[in-house]
Amino acid sequence: MTRERVLITGAAGFLGSHLCDKFVKEGYHVIAMDNLVTGDMRNIEHLMKLEQFEFYHHDVSKYVHVPGEIKYILHFASPASPIDYLKIPIQTLKVSSLGTHNILGLAKAKKARVLVASTSEVYGDPVVHPQTEDYWGNVNPVGPRGCYDEAKRFMEAITMAYHNVHGLETRIIRIFNTYGPRMRLNDGRVLPAFIGQALRGEDLTMFGDGSQTRSFCYVADLVDGIYKLLLSDHHLPVNIGNPSEITIKEFGEEILKLTGANQKLISLPLPADDPKQRKPDITKAKALLGWEPKVNRAEGLKITFEYFKSLSKEELFKTEHRQFS
Ligand code: UDP
Repeated sequence: MTRERVLITGAAGFLGSHLCDKFVKEGYHVIAMDNLVTGDMRNIEHLMKLEQFEFYHHDVSKYVHVPGEIKYILHFASPASPIDYLKIPIQTLKVSSLGTHNILGLAKAKKARVLVASTSEVYGDPVVHPQTEDYWGNVNPVGPRGCYDEAKRFMEAITMAYHNVHGLETRIIRIFNTYGPRMRLNDGRVLPAFIGQALRGEDLTMFGDGSQTRSFCYVADLVDGIYKLLLSDHHLPVNIGNPSEITIKEFGEEILKLTGANQKLISLPLPADDPKQRKPDITKAKALLGWEPKVNRAEGLKITFEYFKSLSKEELFKTEHRQFS
């Protein structure tokens, strides 16, 4: 049987690995690519034995060569947590600029449709709330998040240019905070941080007074949205996220309740340029794709907590010493 071939970059990461599962399940041949700087082979280990799955250990910021036909490319390679991109700002800038350029060139050569993973970070610390796709954002290019936010903004711009100049079929998704199994325990994001702390018997580290808001989307809903957008005919950016907004303080309290931990929330200094509020306006996704999230936070958090609970004690207490080169 000849399967349609899809290339997924960042395939060993949290979102990339769930996309690999989805495309294998939908009957595609999946070509997975990752340089494993923030990805983890354990996320895709279960797929390695399948003949419709292959893995390339490659940095997409360098020239990308893939033999044979490709129908779709999903560009998900990038560090994606503030801690990661603070440690490796240059790689972060390169993967969404040079990496995206390579991916678009490959898509053009293969006549493939390409979907790039943009982010709610393009809205920066937003003054429009909730965020609609036509809001241009409030980004500090020289702050700690600048390397990520500006690289993603460049990614959108070059993707539009390839669409306009070369007629390439392109899709741009703006992903809001997403959670679920396979998030890295020590990537510094609020959900793994809080759950890890709850499981280790530590106090939960709330930054600032916890009044800043986020809106958390369960990974299965996001993957469904990505799939629908890829198959749609819309080339302009589309927000995918769960509009259910919560303050970080309330979120911490929910995690304490869920885990049954009796520690407390302690307040640490708020990092520079931490967005005060974030909530997607998903009117466009609903109208264009017939998409909306189905998993509420209580259900999603329960599944995610079970995942973190199943990690070994060693894993739970390990401090991460990733070699960022
Ligand atoms: N945060 C927190 N404690 C932590 C980690 C994060 O209070 O241990 C806060 C952070 O300041 C931000 C929110 O939680 O306001 C979400 O942070 P995250 O890094 O998960 O993602 P962001 O949406 O900021 O990219």
